[in-house]
Amino acid sequence: MKLYNHKTQETVSFTEAVKMGLGRERGLFCPAVVPILTNIDELLEMPFVMRSQKIMRSWLEDELGGTKVDDMVRKAFTFLPRLVKATPRMQALELYHGPTLAFKDFGARFMAQCLASFAGKEKITILTATSGDTGAAVADAFYGLDNVNVVILYPKGKVSALQEKLFCTLGKNIRTFAVEGDFDKCQDIVKTAFADEELRTKLKLNSANSINISRLLAQICYYFEGVAGFREIYGKQMLPVIAVPSGNFGNLTAGFYAKALGLPVKRFIAATNVNDTVPRFLQTFEWEPHKTVATYTNAMDVSEPSNWDRIMELFKLMAVHAIGNNWRMNEGNLQGISITDSQTAAAMRALHKHGYVGEPHTALASCGLSLSLKMDEAGIFLSTAHPAKFKERIEEILGIQIFLPDKLKAVSNKKVLSETVPADFATVRKLLLA
Ligand SMILES: *Cc1c(COP(=O)(O)O)cnc(C)c1O
Repeated sequence: MKLYNHKTQETVSFTEAVKMGLGRERGLFCPAVVPILTNIDELLEMPFVMRSQKIMRSWLEDELGGTKVDDMVRKAFTFLPRLVKATPRMQALELYHGPTLAFKDFGARFMAQCLASFAGKEKITILTATSGDTGAAVADAFYGLDNVNVVILYPKGKVSALQEKLFCTLGKNIRTFAVEGDFDKCQDIVKTAFADEELRTKLKLNSANSINISRLLAQICYYFEGVAGFREIYGKQMLPVIAVPSGNFGNLTAGFYAKALGLPVKRFIAATNVNDTVPRFLQTFEWEPHKTVATYTNAMDVSEPSNWDRIMELFKLMAVHAIGNNWRMNEGNLQGISITDSQTAAAMRALHKHGYVGEPHTALASCGLSLSLKMDEAGIFLSTAHPAKFKERIEEILGIQIFLPDKLKAVSNKKVLSETVPADFATVRKLLLA
Protein backbone atom coordinates (compact mmCIF):
# COMPACT_ATOMS: atom_id res chain seq x y z
CA MET A 1 0.00 0.00 0.00
CA LYS A 2 1.34 3.39 -0.94
CA LEU A 3 0.76 6.40 1.32
CA TYR A 4 1.94 9.99 1.20
CA ASN A 5 2.74 12.57 3.85
CA HIS A 6 0.21 15.34 3.24
CA LYS A 7 2.66 18.05 4.32
CA THR A 8 5.79 16.96 2.46
CA GLN A 9 4.34 14.65 -0.24
CA GLU A 10 6.94 11.97 0.61
CA THR A 11 5.62 8.47 -0.05
CA VAL A 12 5.98 5.51 2.31
CA SER A 13 4.76 1.93 2.59
CA PHE A 14 2.06 0.88 5.04
CA THR A 15 4.66 -0.72 7.31
CA GLU A 16 6.65 2.50 7.44
CA ALA A 17 3.56 4.61 8.01
CA VAL A 18 2.40 2.42 10.89
CA LYS A 19 5.82 2.47 12.55
CA MET A 20 6.24 6.23 12.17
CA GLY A 21 2.68 7.16 13.08
CA LEU A 22 3.07 10.79 12.20
CA GLY A 23 5.31 11.98 9.37
CA ARG A 24 7.79 14.86 9.17
CA GLU A 25 6.39 18.35 9.72
CA ARG A 26 3.50 16.67 11.50
CA GLY A 27 2.23 15.34 8.20
CA LEU A 28 -0.48 12.69 8.17
CA PHE A 29 -0.06 9.58 6.06
CA CYS A 30 -2.87 9.34 3.52
CA PRO A 31 -3.61 6.61 0.96
CA ALA A 32 -2.15 7.57 -2.43
CA VAL A 33 -4.51 5.18 -4.21
CA VAL A 34 -7.85 3.78 -3.09
CA PRO A 35 -8.68 0.26 -4.28
CA ILE A 36 -12.18 0.02 -5.69
CA LEU A 37 -14.17 -3.05 -4.72
CA THR A 38 -16.41 -4.22 -7.51
CA ASN A 39 -18.11 -7.10 -5.72
CA ILE A 40 -19.90 -5.07 -3.05
CA ASP A 41 -23.15 -7.08 -3.13
CA GLU A 42 -21.25 -10.29 -2.60
CA LEU A 43 -19.14 -8.76 0.17
CA LEU A 44 -22.20 -7.54 2.00
CA GLU A 45 -23.52 -11.09 2.19
CA MET A 46 -20.42 -12.41 3.98
CA PRO A 47 -19.87 -12.85 7.71
CA PHE A 48 -18.00 -10.00 9.39
CA VAL A 49 -14.53 -11.49 9.81
CA MET A 50 -14.36 -13.01 6.34
CA ARG A 51 -15.59 -9.79 4.73
CA SER A 52 -13.15 -7.73 6.79
CA GLN A 53 -10.29 -9.93 5.58
CA LYS A 54 -11.26 -9.20 1.99
CA ILE A 55 -11.49 -5.47 2.67
CA MET A 56 -8.11 -5.35 4.38
CA ARG A 57 -6.55 -7.50 1.68
CA SER A 58 -7.63 -4.96 -0.90
CA TRP A 59 -5.30 -2.45 0.78
CA LEU A 60 -2.59 -4.63 2.24
CA GLU A 61 -2.23 -7.90 0.38
CA ASP A 62 0.42 -6.59 -2.04
CA GLU A 63 2.65 -5.49 0.80
CA LEU A 64 2.02 -8.06 3.54
CA GLY A 65 0.63 -11.11 1.76
CA GLY A 66 -2.93 -12.40 2.08
CA THR A 67 -2.32 -14.97 4.80
CA LYS A 68 -0.68 -12.42 7.07
CA VAL A 69 -3.55 -9.97 6.58
CA ASP A 70 -6.17 -12.64 7.28
CA ASP A 71 -4.32 -13.63 10.40
CA MET A 72 -4.10 -10.08 11.78
CA VAL A 73 -7.80 -9.44 11.13
CA ARG A 74 -8.84 -12.67 12.78
CA LYS A 75 -6.75 -11.96 15.88
CA ALA A 76 -7.91 -8.34 16.15
CA PHE A 77 -11.62 -8.79 15.56
CA THR A 78 -12.62 -11.15 18.33
CA PHE A 79 -15.97 -9.41 18.86
CA LEU A 80 -18.65 -8.13 16.50
CA PRO A 81 -20.44 -4.89 15.67
CA ARG A 82 -24.22 -5.20 16.08
CA LEU A 83 -26.96 -3.34 14.27
CA VAL A 84 -29.85 -2.80 16.67
CA LYS A 85 -33.18 -1.12 15.98
CA ALA A 86 -33.55 2.14 17.91
CA THR A 87 -36.58 3.69 16.19
CA PRO A 88 -38.46 2.69 13.01
CA ARG A 89 -36.14 4.74 10.82
CA MET A 90 -32.96 4.73 12.89
CA GLN A 91 -30.68 1.77 13.52
CA ALA A 92 -27.88 1.90 16.08
CA LEU A 93 -24.61 0.36 14.96
CA GLU A 94 -23.23 -0.78 18.32
CA LEU A 95 -19.45 -0.83 18.21
CA TYR A 96 -18.80 -1.24 21.90
CA HIS A 97 -18.89 -4.99 22.46
CA GLY A 98 -15.09 -5.31 22.64
CA PRO A 99 -12.84 -5.64 25.71
CA THR A 100 -12.89 -1.95 26.74
CA LEU A 101 -16.48 -1.24 25.76
CA ALA A 102 -15.91 1.44 23.12
CA PHE A 103 -15.46 1.40 19.34
CA LYS A 104 -11.78 2.25 19.77
CA ASP A 105 -11.13 -1.46 20.40
CA PHE A 106 -11.46 -2.17 16.67
CA GLY A 107 -8.66 0.16 15.66
CA ALA A 108 -6.45 -0.35 18.69
CA ARG A 109 -6.48 -4.13 18.44
CA PHE A 110 -5.67 -4.11 14.75
CA MET A 111 -2.90 -1.59 15.30
CA ALA A 112 -1.44 -3.75 18.05
CA GLN A 113 -1.39 -6.67 15.59
CA CYS A 114 0.46 -4.52 13.06
CA LEU A 115 3.01 -3.13 15.50
CA ALA A 116 3.67 -6.47 17.18
CA SER A 117 4.38 -7.88 13.75
CA PHE A 118 6.44 -4.98 12.35
CA ALA A 119 8.49 -4.01 15.41
CA GLY A 120 10.49 -7.22 15.58
CA LYS A 121 12.75 -7.50 18.60
CA GLU A 122 13.48 -3.85 19.34
CA LYS A 123 11.64 -2.30 22.26
CA ILE A 124 9.29 0.48 21.18
CA THR A 125 7.31 3.12 23.09
CA ILE A 126 3.74 3.86 22.19
CA LEU A 127 2.96 7.46 23.05
CA THR A 128 -0.62 8.56 22.76
CA ALA A 129 -3.10 11.20 23.85
CA THR A 130 -6.63 10.22 24.77
CA SER A 131 -9.85 12.04 25.46
CA GLY A 132 -11.07 8.92 27.23
CA ASP A 133 -11.61 5.74 25.29
CA THR A 134 -8.46 5.44 23.19
CA GLY A 135 -6.40 5.09 26.34
CA ALA A 136 -8.36 2.08 27.51
CA ALA A 137 -8.38 0.39 24.12
CA VAL A 138 -4.66 0.93 23.55
CA ALA A 139 -3.69 -0.09 27.07
CA ASP A 140 -5.75 -3.27 26.78
CA ALA A 141 -4.41 -4.15 23.35
CA PHE A 142 -0.74 -3.82 24.44
CA TYR A 143 -0.91 -4.80 28.11
CA GLY A 144 1.81 -7.25 29.08
CA LEU A 145 3.63 -7.28 25.71
CA ASP A 146 7.40 -7.54 26.29
CA ASN A 147 8.66 -5.35 23.48
CA VAL A 148 6.22 -2.46 23.93
CA ASN A 149 6.02 0.31 26.52
CA VAL A 150 2.88 2.40 26.50
CA VAL A 151 2.62 6.02 27.67
CA ILE A 152 -0.81 7.63 27.72
CA LEU A 153 -1.57 11.33 28.23
CA TYR A 154 -5.08 12.43 29.16
CA PRO A 155 -6.71 15.63 30.43
CA LYS A 156 -6.85 15.43 34.22
CA GLY A 157 -10.40 15.41 35.57
CA LYS A 158 -11.91 15.43 32.09
CA VAL A 159 -12.42 11.72 31.53
CA SER A 160 -15.11 9.79 33.39
CA ALA A 161 -14.05 8.02 36.58
CA LEU A 162 -14.73 4.63 35.06
CA GLN A 163 -12.88 5.46 31.87
CA GLU A 164 -9.88 6.41 33.99
CA LYS A 165 -10.09 3.17 35.96
CA LEU A 166 -9.93 1.16 32.75
CA PHE A 167 -6.50 2.34 31.67
CA CYS A 168 -4.81 3.95 34.68
CA THR A 169 -4.90 1.01 37.05
CA LEU A 170 -2.96 -1.53 35.01
CA GLY A 171 0.69 -0.80 35.76
CA LYS A 172 3.36 -3.08 34.21
CA ASN A 173 4.19 -1.69 30.75
CA ILE A 174 1.38 0.91 30.86
CA ARG A 175 2.30 4.38 32.20
CA THR A 176 -0.30 7.16 32.45
CA PHE A 177 0.07 10.94 32.78
CA ALA A 178 -2.85 13.07 33.99
CA VAL A 179 -2.15 16.37 32.23
CA GLU A 180 -3.36 19.63 33.73
CA GLY A 181 -4.96 20.85 30.51
CA ASP A 182 -7.48 19.81 27.87
CA PHE A 183 -7.26 17.10 25.20
CA ASP A 184 -5.90 19.49 22.58
CA LYS A 185 -3.00 20.25 24.94
CA CYS A 186 -2.29 16.54 25.38
CA GLN A 187 -2.39 16.03 21.65
CA ASP A 188 -0.08 18.99 21.20
CA ILE A 189 2.49 17.52 23.60
CA VAL A 190 2.38 14.22 21.71
CA LYS A 191 2.87 15.94 18.38
CA THR A 192 5.79 17.96 19.77
CA ALA A 193 7.35 14.77 21.12
CA PHE A 194 7.20 13.25 17.65
CA ALA A 195 8.93 16.27 16.18
CA ASP A 196 11.77 15.87 18.74
CA GLU A 197 14.39 13.75 16.95
CA GLU A 198 16.32 12.78 20.10
CA LEU A 199 13.23 11.63 21.96
CA ARG A 200 11.92 9.88 18.95
CA THR A 201 15.01 7.78 18.31
CA LYS A 202 15.94 7.12 21.95
CA LEU A 203 12.50 5.78 22.84
CA LYS A 204 11.60 4.44 19.38
CA LEU A 205 8.42 6.44 19.64
CA ASN A 206 5.28 5.29 18.01
CA SER A 207 1.86 6.87 18.03
CA ALA A 208 -1.32 5.03 18.79
CA ASN A 209 -4.05 7.60 18.54
CA SER A 210 -6.26 7.94 15.53
CA ILE A 211 -3.29 9.52 13.77
CA ASN A 212 -2.06 5.97 13.09
CA ILE A 213 -3.34 4.86 9.72
CA SER A 214 -3.67 1.20 10.75
CA ARG A 215 -6.51 2.12 13.07
CA LEU A 216 -8.46 3.90 10.39
CA LEU A 217 -8.21 1.00 7.96
CA ALA A 218 -9.58 -1.36 10.60
CA GLN A 219 -12.51 0.95 11.27
CA ILE A 220 -13.64 0.75 7.65
CA CYS A 221 -14.84 -2.79 8.28
CA TYR A 222 -17.74 -2.00 10.60
CA TYR A 223 -19.29 0.43 8.13
CA PHE A 224 -19.73 -2.51 5.77
CA GLU A 225 -21.36 -4.50 8.55
CA GLY A 226 -23.75 -1.61 9.25
CA VAL A 227 -24.78 -1.27 5.62
CA ALA A 228 -25.15 -5.07 5.27
CA GLY A 229 -27.59 -5.17 8.18
CA PHE A 230 -29.40 -2.05 6.97
CA ARG A 231 -30.01 -3.70 3.59
CA GLU A 232 -31.61 -6.69 5.23
CA ILE A 233 -34.13 -4.41 6.90
CA TYR A 234 -34.90 -1.76 4.27
CA GLY A 235 -33.88 -3.49 1.03
CA LYS A 236 -31.14 -2.75 -1.46
CA GLN A 237 -32.70 0.39 -2.94
CA MET A 238 -32.65 2.39 0.28
CA LEU A 239 -29.21 3.84 1.01
CA PRO A 240 -28.46 4.76 4.61
CA VAL A 241 -27.66 8.20 5.94
CA ILE A 242 -24.91 7.57 8.52
CA ALA A 243 -24.36 9.83 11.53
CA VAL A 244 -20.94 9.72 13.17
CA PRO A 245 -20.34 11.27 16.60
CA SER A 246 -17.09 13.09 15.85
CA GLY A 247 -14.22 14.40 17.92
CA ASN A 248 -10.84 13.83 16.32
CA PHE A 249 -12.60 12.65 13.12
CA GLY A 250 -10.88 9.29 12.76
CA ASN A 251 -14.21 7.51 12.72
CA LEU A 252 -15.64 9.68 9.97
CA THR A 253 -12.42 9.38 7.94
CA ALA A 254 -12.85 5.60 8.01
CA GLY A 255 -16.45 6.05 6.86
CA PHE A 256 -15.31 8.02 3.84
CA TYR A 257 -12.62 5.42 3.08
CA ALA A 258 -15.43 2.83 3.10
CA LYS A 259 -17.42 4.95 0.69
CA ALA A 260 -14.37 5.41 -1.53
CA LEU A 261 -13.98 1.62 -1.68
CA GLY A 262 -17.51 1.51 -3.06
CA LEU A 263 -19.77 1.13 -0.03
CA PRO A 264 -23.19 2.61 -0.88
CA VAL A 265 -23.93 5.40 1.60
CA LYS A 266 -26.35 8.23 0.90
CA ARG A 267 -24.53 10.83 2.97
CA PHE A 268 -22.64 11.20 6.22
CA ILE A 269 -23.50 13.43 9.15
CA ALA A 270 -20.53 14.82 11.07
CA ALA A 271 -22.26 15.23 14.43
CA THR A 272 -20.21 17.24 16.91
CA ASN A 273 -20.91 18.82 20.27
CA VAL A 274 -20.44 22.58 20.63
CA ASN A 275 -16.77 22.14 19.75
CA ASP A 276 -17.96 22.70 16.23
CA THR A 277 -14.91 23.63 14.16
CA VAL A 278 -15.93 21.27 11.35
CA PRO A 279 -19.65 22.14 11.11
CA ARG A 280 -18.65 25.82 10.92
CA PHE A 281 -15.99 25.02 8.35
CA LEU A 282 -18.58 23.27 6.18
CA GLN A 283 -20.66 26.46 6.18
CA THR A 284 -17.91 29.01 5.60
CA PHE A 285 -14.83 27.04 4.48
CA GLU A 286 -12.88 28.96 7.12
CA TRP A 287 -10.89 26.94 9.66
CA GLU A 288 -11.37 28.79 12.94
CA PRO A 289 -10.98 26.60 16.04
CA HIS A 290 -12.35 28.11 19.24
CA LYS A 291 -11.21 27.27 22.73
CA THR A 292 -12.27 23.71 23.66
CA VAL A 293 -15.34 23.53 25.89
CA ALA A 294 -16.19 20.63 28.24
CA THR A 295 -19.43 18.82 27.36
CA TYR A 296 -21.33 15.62 28.22
CA THR A 297 -19.60 14.00 25.26
CA ASN A 298 -16.08 14.35 26.62
CA ALA A 299 -14.48 12.01 24.07
CA MET A 300 -15.45 14.61 21.48
CA ASP A 301 -14.19 17.71 23.25
CA VAL A 302 -11.76 18.47 20.46
CA SER A 303 -11.53 21.72 18.57
CA GLU A 304 -8.58 20.97 16.29
CA PRO A 305 -9.38 17.52 14.96
CA SER A 306 -6.26 15.93 13.47
CA ASN A 307 -7.99 13.73 10.96
CA TRP A 308 -9.94 16.42 9.19
CA ASP A 309 -7.03 16.97 6.79
CA ARG A 310 -7.27 13.32 5.79
CA ILE A 311 -10.88 13.82 4.73
CA MET A 312 -9.90 16.88 2.69
CA GLU A 313 -7.09 14.91 1.06
CA LEU A 314 -9.43 12.04 0.20
CA PHE A 315 -11.95 14.36 -1.40
CA LYS A 316 -9.17 15.82 -3.55
CA LEU A 317 -7.99 12.36 -4.57
CA MET A 318 -11.49 11.08 -5.33
CA ALA A 319 -12.53 14.18 -7.24
CA VAL A 320 -9.71 13.37 -9.64
CA HIS A 321 -10.20 9.60 -9.85
CA ALA A 322 -13.84 8.79 -9.20
CA ILE A 323 -15.86 8.12 -12.28
CA GLY A 324 -19.42 9.41 -12.31
CA ASN A 325 -19.31 9.87 -8.58
CA ASN A 326 -19.83 13.12 -6.79
CA TRP A 327 -16.95 13.86 -4.44
CA ARG A 328 -17.62 17.52 -3.88
CA MET A 329 -17.70 18.65 -0.28
CA ASN A 330 -21.32 19.70 -0.01
CA GLU A 331 -24.44 18.81 1.95
CA GLY A 332 -25.23 15.98 -0.45
CA ASN A 333 -22.14 14.13 0.81
CA LEU A 334 -21.48 15.51 4.24
CA GLN A 335 -23.59 17.53 6.58
CA GLY A 336 -22.10 19.05 9.73
CA ILE A 337 -24.38 19.36 12.74
CA SER A 338 -23.40 20.78 16.11
CA ILE A 339 -25.42 19.65 19.12
CA THR A 340 -25.70 21.13 22.60
CA ASP A 341 -25.72 19.19 25.86
CA SER A 342 -29.41 19.86 26.34
CA GLN A 343 -30.16 18.46 22.88
CA THR A 344 -28.03 15.44 23.76
CA ALA A 345 -30.00 14.89 26.96
CA ALA A 346 -33.28 15.26 25.05
CA ALA A 347 -32.07 12.71 22.51
CA MET A 348 -31.22 10.29 25.34
CA ARG A 349 -34.79 10.64 26.60
CA ALA A 350 -36.25 10.26 23.10
CA LEU A 351 -34.29 7.05 22.50
CA HIS A 352 -35.29 5.73 25.90
CA LYS A 353 -38.99 6.23 25.01
CA HIS A 354 -38.37 3.78 22.17
CA GLY A 355 -36.74 1.37 24.61
CA TYR A 356 -33.16 2.14 23.61
CA VAL A 357 -30.54 3.26 26.11
CA GLY A 358 -27.73 5.29 24.56
CA GLU A 359 -24.87 7.04 26.34
CA PRO A 360 -24.26 10.70 25.44
CA HIS A 361 -21.99 10.20 22.37
CA THR A 362 -24.44 7.74 20.90
CA ALA A 363 -27.43 9.95 21.69
CA LEU A 364 -25.70 12.93 20.13
CA ALA A 365 -25.27 10.96 16.90
CA SER A 366 -28.92 9.92 16.96
CA CYS A 367 -29.87 13.56 17.38
CA GLY A 368 -27.77 14.54 14.36
CA LEU A 369 -29.40 11.79 12.34
CA SER A 370 -32.96 12.65 13.29
CA LEU A 371 -32.37 16.34 12.50
CA SER A 372 -31.10 15.37 9.05
CA LEU A 373 -33.43 12.56 7.94
CA LYS A 374 -36.05 13.48 5.39
CA MET A 375 -39.45 11.75 5.32
CA ASP A 376 -38.40 9.09 2.83
CA GLU A 377 -35.01 8.32 4.38
CA ALA A 378 -33.68 5.97 7.03
CA GLY A 379 -30.28 5.80 8.62
CA ILE A 380 -27.69 4.49 11.00
CA PHE A 381 -26.11 6.25 13.95
CA LEU A 382 -22.89 4.90 15.36
CA SER A 383 -23.09 3.82 18.95
CA THR A 384 -19.57 4.34 20.17
CA ALA A 385 -19.54 3.42 23.86
CA HIS A 386 -21.31 1.11 26.29
CA PRO A 387 -23.88 2.90 28.50
CA ALA A 388 -22.10 1.69 31.63
CA LYS A 389 -19.09 3.86 30.79
CA PHE A 390 -21.32 6.89 31.36
CA LYS A 391 -23.41 5.41 34.14
CA GLU A 392 -23.73 8.54 36.30
CA ARG A 393 -24.81 10.81 33.45
CA ILE A 394 -27.38 8.35 32.18
CA GLU A 395 -28.81 7.74 35.63
CA GLU A 396 -29.07 11.48 36.19
CA ILE A 397 -30.80 12.15 32.86
CA LEU A 398 -32.99 9.08 32.47
CA GLY A 399 -33.62 8.28 36.13
CA ILE A 400 -32.91 4.61 35.57
CA GLN A 401 -30.25 2.38 37.03
CA ILE A 402 -27.38 1.18 34.86
CA PHE A 403 -25.57 -1.99 35.84
CA LEU A 404 -21.87 -2.41 35.31
CA PRO A 405 -20.70 -5.26 33.12
CA ASP A 406 -18.16 -7.57 34.81
CA LYS A 407 -15.24 -5.94 33.02
CA LEU A 408 -15.97 -2.56 34.63
CA LYS A 409 -16.89 -4.00 38.02
CA ALA A 410 -13.49 -5.60 38.18
CA VAL A 411 -11.59 -2.32 37.78
CA SER A 412 -13.88 0.03 39.69
CA ASN A 413 -12.15 -0.56 43.03
CA LYS A 414 -8.58 -0.48 41.77
CA LYS A 415 -6.17 2.34 42.50
CA VAL A 416 -5.42 4.94 39.81
CA LEU A 417 -1.65 4.91 39.22
CA SER A 418 -1.34 8.07 37.07
CA GLU A 419 1.31 10.74 37.55
CA THR A 420 -0.07 14.30 37.43
CA VAL A 421 1.92 16.60 35.14
CA PRO A 422 1.60 20.24 34.02
CA ALA A 423 0.54 20.86 30.41
CA ASP A 424 4.11 21.45 29.41
CA PHE A 425 6.25 19.51 26.96
CA ALA A 426 9.58 20.02 28.75
CA THR A 427 8.31 18.29 31.90
CA VAL A 428 6.84 15.37 30.03
CA ARG A 429 10.07 15.01 28.04
CA LYS A 430 12.14 14.84 31.21
CA LEU A 431 9.90 12.17 32.70
CA LEU A 432 10.04 10.13 29.51
CA LEU A 433 13.84 10.19 29.38
CA ALA A 434 14.35 9.61 33.12
C1 LIG B 1 -13.24 8.72 20.45
C2 LIG B 1 -14.72 8.74 20.60
C3 LIG B 1 -15.54 9.45 19.71
C4 LIG B 1 -14.98 10.32 18.62
O1 LIG B 1 -14.35 9.58 17.60
P1 LIG B 1 -13.31 10.30 16.61
O2 LIG B 1 -12.79 9.21 15.76
O3 LIG B 1 -12.25 10.90 17.49
O4 LIG B 1 -14.06 11.34 15.87
C5 LIG B 1 -16.92 9.34 19.86
N1 LIG B 1 -17.47 8.62 20.85
C6 LIG B 1 -16.71 7.94 21.74
C7 LIG B 1 -17.40 7.18 22.82
C8 LIG B 1 -15.32 7.98 21.64
O5 LIG B 1 -14.58 7.30 22.52
